[in-house]
Amino acid sequence: MMPRRNVIVIGAGAAGLMAAGRAAELGARVLLLEKMGEAGKKILVTGQERCNVTNAAPLEAFLTAFGHNGPFLRNAFHRFFREELLALLRRYGVETQVERGGRIFPASGRAADVRDALLRYATEHGATIRYHTAVQELLVKEEHVTGVRTVGGETFPAAAAILATGGASWPGTGSTGDGYVMARDLGHTLVPLRPALVPLTVAEKARAKALQGVSLRNVACTLLEATPGGKDKVLPPPWPLPPTGEVLFTHFGLSGPLVLSLSLAAVDAVRAGKSVTLALDLKPGMTFEEVRARLQREFEQYPQRKLPHLLRGWLPGSLADELAKLTPSGAERPVFTIRAGERDELATLLKNFRWRITGSLPLAAGMVTAGGVALKEVDPRSFASRRVAGLHLVGEVLDLAADTGGYNLQAAFSSGYLAGEAAAGD
Ligand SMILES: Cc1cc2nc3c(=O)[nH]c(=O)nc-3n(C[C@H](O)[C@H](O)[C@H](O)COP(=O)(O)OP(=O)(O)OC[C@H]3O[C@@H](n4cnc5c(N)ncnc54)[C@H](O)[C@@H]3O)c2cc1C
Repeated sequence: MMPRRNVIVIGAGAAGLMAAGRAAELGARVLLLEKMGEAGKKILVTGQERCNVTNAAPLEAFLTAFGHNGPFLRNAFHRFFREELLALLRRYGVETQVERGGRIFPASGRAADVRDALLRYATEHGATIRYHTAVQELLVKEEHVTGVRTVGGETFPAAAAILATGGASWPGTGSTGDGYVMARDLGHTLVPLRPALVPLTVAEKARAKALQGVSLRNVACTLLEATPGGKDKVLPPPWPLPPTGEVLFTHFGLSGPLVLSLSLAAVDAVRAGKSVTLALDLKPGMTFEEVRARLQREFEQYPQRKLPHLLRGWLPGSLADELAKLTPSGAERPVFTIRAGERDELATLLKNFRWRITGSLPLAAGMVTAGGVALKEVDPRSFASRRVAGLHLVGEVLDLAADTGGYNLQAAFSSGYLAGEAAAGD
């Protein structure tokens, strides 16, 4: 009988648990090393603790949610995609349901059920887990993985290692970016790390603070770059976005689902030294002309009303007050005294409410880390390193980041599954 292969999986997150389960299922002797005191701490916080495991979108739309790096995942998704994931979860007692936007959640509404199912998948097939064990270094001899060394100085031999240490966001869950250092030390190229799905900071701090807590549904956002010629250029979002969505004002700037989804484009543009503006269309269902006409009508209908009062028919109270303050006539005069030109400026504000973007909250605050191990150095069929034999890299440690909607977890699960399979048979 063939001796069982020693496979070490570094990190018991979404990708690592899946990799360990699959490698063990195929007969490998699997040791899963996790630096925290429990597995899948990040899984537990996903989807507001409900864990949006994947999405019902067809494959092509799924791939576009990863922006320009999506095609790298095509092969993995052909082999292990949503149906396979849901079947596996069902095998371990987790039924799922599809919700708004195709988002798929456990029917129980408990992220812990997903974590527990994956943990059982790994352990029932014989994988051993050691907690409080942080790996510091991958041991390599003649360009082949031979084992790992932990922070405590212990070494463990292995014929194959799967690096599943996640990104560098939400470090309290254990994802502190260790894997990037280990991969770089072995000669892998790192695409610069940036936060994605992250709130943005603005220059108009006082205005943001005044609006803190206001949430707007059904508004549209466009990112603009100021060009030397004075004309604004539209910055494309990192992946296709719905035309409208929800925006939330915070004391430092802008957040909410729509802002998070386009944030990576703003982060990259600011990093590149561009002057970036976010233009909010507060009335995307109306053209500028329609807004102007309605304003005119209401000014005529309620001539004695003051502007903030009138705008409350359009917008939440504090936003109505702020917009009134931004018009030259100010808040105090009755609207019949406001000239047509100023009324048009108000219509412009409603259609094009501008914020200068200064950056974002730090990497730790992003929901995912963009950047990471360069994909060209990884085989998309086995997630094997093209630098070091016996090494596989999976999940967020790779240069992969997607929109919200369950895409990031599916990438972690699919890459983990394929790497587990490959490592067991390397
Ligand atoms: C608040 C929040 C909500 C999210 N919601 C969703 C969602 O609903 N749907 C979705 O698809 N995505 C969501 N994401 C993103 C998703 O959670 C991640 O993309 C995914 O967990 C990445 O999986 P991973 O296995 O690569 O890394 P992780 O799940 O981060 O796991 C990495 C593991 O490695 C361990 N580790 C790190 N370094 C070492 C070391 N040196 N030695 C040993 N172990 C180590 C860590 O402790 C951790 O357990 C969310 C993220 C956040 C922060």
